[in-house]
Amino acid sequence: MQFLDLLWPTLLLLNLEQVEITTDPAAPIPLRFVHYPISHSLLAAAGWGVAIGLVYWLARKDQRAAIIVGLCVLSHWILDLIVHIPDLPLYPGDSSPLLGLGLWHSKLGTLVLETLLFAGGIYLYLGAARPRSNAAKYSFWALIVFLYGIYLTNIFGPPPPGVEAIAWAGQLQWLFVVWAWWVDRK
Ligand SMILES: [Zn+2]
Repeated sequence: MQFLDLLWPTLLLLNLEQVEITTDPAAPIPLRFVHYPISHSLLAAAGWGVAIGLVYWLARKDQRAAIIVGLCVLSHWILDLIVHIPDLPLYPGDSSPLLGLGLWHSKLGTLVLETLLFAGGIYLYLGAARPRSNAAKYSFWALIVFLYGIYLTNIFGPPPPGVEAIAWAGQLQWLFVVWAWWVDRK
């Protein structure tokens, strides 16, 4: 689900995609997503979904799970569509209009919807997985608290100091992938 945002920092560092920090008080968040067709156009998101689904299928030979994994990758774009201001392209190149329903304009609305989605995800996960040890249980909840803390910092914290800081902080998300993978195995 998070794959597009895992890809994005690397594309920023390679200068294939661009973001700007804005101090415009009318902007709902301090970032302007100037150009990100490889990570965040609908067509690319669908392509990444197919690619990741295919990799999963090759690794596990489970067709149903592979389709779900692929749809999860694509779902990132749908969820971004709800909150982003119109900056999401349909395809790389001269895609217009750019799309976004702009829930970010309401901090409370964003917080409520995204918290509910997060809680829903936790609920579904706990229905499907049982911890095999106390260590697994605690590290699962530590991950949840940590993720939610970072989320709140993103919403209420100060704007990032620079684009490079965003890109490198973005790379730290891979640590959560490893952490989540470890928790899931336990
Ligand atoms: Zn995104």
